[in-house]
Amino acid sequence: MAKLEEYVPIVGQSVVDDLRLLAGKLHGKMVQHINSTPVGGGVAEILSRMVPLLKELGVDTRWDVIKGGEQFFEVTKKFHNALHGKAEEITQRDFDIFMETSRENIKGVNTCGDVVFIHDPQPIALIEKKSDKKWLWRCHIDVSAPDRRVWKFLMDFIMRYDSAVFSSPSFSQRLPIRQFLIPPSIDPLSDKNKDISQETIGAVLRKYRIPQDKPIITQISRFDRLKDPLGVIEAYVRVKKYNNCRLVLAGGSADDDPEGLQVLAEAKEKARQDKDIHILLLPQNNIEINALQRASSVIVQKSIREGFGLTVAEALWKAKPVVASNVGGIPLQIKHKYSGLLCHSIEGASFAIKQLLNSPEYARRLGENGREHIRNNFLLTRHLRDYMLLFLSLYHGDDVVYL
Ligand code: UDP
Repeated sequence: MAKLEEYVPIVGQSVVDDLRLLAGKLHGKMVQHINSTPVGGGVAEILSRMVPLLKELGVDTRWDVIKGGEQFFEVTKKFHNALHGKAEEITQRDFDIFMETSRENIKGVNTCGDVVFIHDPQPIALIEKKSDKKWLWRCHIDVSAPDRRVWKFLMDFIMRYDSAVFSSPSFSQRLPIRQFLIPPSIDPLSDKNKDISQETIGAVLRKYRIPQDKPIITQISRFDRLKDPLGVIEAYVRVKKYNNCRLVLAGGSADDDPEGLQVLAEAKEKARQDKDIHILLLPQNNIEINALQRASSVIVQKSIREGFGLTVAEALWKAKPVVASNVGGIPLQIKHKYSGLLCHSIEGASFAIKQLLNSPEYARRLGENGREHIRNNFLLTRHLRDYMLLFLSLYHGDDVVYL
């Protein structure tokens, strides 16, 4: 695990000094994060890096995880989809299951923090335990167009928190409590993002039998319709008429996701005739993702809907030119024609990819600008600073400056 000092060459001494200063002001306060899983998913990924760094800064921090059975997590997955605006059939029984498990967690979880920081809807009902301590609800989901019934159900809890935190203004809702807007981050020193050698990159390409004879275009994503892998193949086919290149579509195991397997099968079928398309079902291996991103000439993220889109930040951090849809958190990361190219269609994506392949100097400049944009806005150190300012603001009145 990276130590704080190792961030100095990346973000500068003053950023790390600021973190120490803010941490000092939190002396005597205990911050408690609570979510629903210790591993897997973006929230756990961020907490697994953030909690040790807060501790190293001297902030008394703990991380607890609620318990839940299969039925509970089926319900919360439905809630998740419904909050994203997907049609889901949600019954009274689902709400009852949610409350039954919540009651067990209300009994079982020791909410001892001075600041209790609840992540996402799964543990939201713990607010029943609120006393005179500060309670925050962190929503990682884009709830701009939620299923009304689920949102109303959650609102009864949300209203009792001191403040709520969203990733982007466009993800949030009007609320009767204070809101803070804090985007997520990537860790530049994690296996997924740290510098790796050309040998490591070469070894990963050899493992997956991807020759380095022509430019590689890559999308890293779960095989999910909303990530539009079939659209990426169509864009590549259009590019291929003019520019000789390879396409890599790489995503994690889809074993427990029947729709994922279906999408993967469709992508394979569509790619059958073309040996330059590499469809990879990756094990959870961050170094391999890192290597594939670094081996690419262009990274694509042609999502139809998106949360923040961490893959975009990961690619930009590697100074790669990125072509990505103008959805979710992507426009926060890509300023069109400055730190990447935004697209709205298959035609637009193929046009942008061709442009980047034909203008390496332009592509290089976009990538470099993208890396600086990520350095200034979306690294873990910025995220830590925002969170500590947020904790401090809880102890001040309404005169506080909103982040
Ligand atoms: N990712 C991964 N393995 C895969 C596909 C994706 O580890 O096979 C990672 C990816 O590098 C990124 C995260 O999972 O860190 C996906 O986050 P993003 O916000 O891009 O999309 P989500 O999957 O959360 O919709």
